[in-house]
Amino acid sequence: AKKAGKNCWRFYQAAMQAEAYERIRLTNSLRHAIDRGELLLYYQPQASIANGGITGFEALLRWNSPEYGAVSPDRFIPLAEQSGLIRPIGQWVLQEACKFARRLADRGWTNRKIAVNVSPHQIGADGFISVVRKALSDAGIKPGQLELEITENALIASLEDSISKLDELQAMGVQLSLDDFGTGYSSLTYLQRLPVNTLKIDKAFIDMILMDGAQKAIIGSIVDIAHIMGMTVVAEGVETQRQLSYLAQCRCDRIQGYLLSRPVPAAEAAVFPGTVNLS
Ligand code: C2E
Ligand code: CA
Ligand code: CA
Ligand code: CA
Repeated sequence: AKKAGKNCWRFYQAAMQAEAYERIRLTNSLRHAIDRGELLLYYQPQASIANGGITGFEALLRWNSPEYGAVSPDRFIPLAEQSGLIRPIGQWVLQEACKFARRLADRGWTNRKIAVNVSPHQIGADGFISVVRKALSDAGIKPGQLELEITENALIASLEDSISKLDELQAMGVQLSLDDFGTGYSSLTYLQRLPVNTLKIDKAFIDMILMDGAQKAIIGSIVDIAHIMGMTVVAEGVETQRQLSYLAQCRCDRIQGYLLSRPVPAAEAAVFPGTVNLS
């Protein structure tokens, strides 16, 4: 038995080493991904539940590596964060997303917002606000066309500093959205202190709608509280009509998810219809 345990340990160690090695290889390859044009953004629409109007898109990063194929952001974003590459990558994402907002504005869609995911490391970095300002002015779009998606866990580490930066962005007219709501250390007092316009309910809650437990009742309460605080509520990961009708019943404002559309390339998002039929 002792010997088997030892083998098991060796196997575990070897697997850990292989994983560490793989992480280093991926990170080195990611270092050149911007220059080599391997990164691109996909856009996933959001629609108003009340009238099916498309209110905007979330920009989602894609990496098509010649060596590794399509790497999931859940895999490479953490590597980018650990290596500091998230700063140049995040800056590229902001620039690119604002250019896309410009493209929409040129087609008359000036009120369609582009939501960009930002990492804690980006917000924490000196010069974050100037990076945002420059992306807006390079593209020539109104700050109100840009929405930044932040996660609460990310902010808790340096709350005061984050809040003052977010206040400044909001004063500029940039929209702020709290992503993955319900998965972190959410507390009401905390929520009240964050200057956010929009709250995105995490897919984990939306999935509960399909189970017949009492837990799903929490969604209605989240929506009500958010509304009292003056926020708009978006449900993410909506896949079925049944989820949609429950969300409508809860007075949720907007949906995002495969029911409406998967994330699509820019060319497709640029010609997305003005409204969709949600019934
Ligand atoms: P997220 O911000 O929570 O984005 C939503 C994720 O759910 C996306 O995965 C999207 O493709 C997926 N999704 C949307 N609708 C549905 C649905 O109906 N069903 C299911 N099963 N999934 C749905 P994706 O694109 O793989 O991105 C994963 C995560 O990577 C994002 O989660 C976000 O945290 C991060 N990420 C993506 N792009 C960026 C970026 O530019 N910067 C940063 N910092 N993070 C990013
Ligand atoms: Ca997001
Ligand atoms: Ca999310
Ligand atoms: Ca998520």
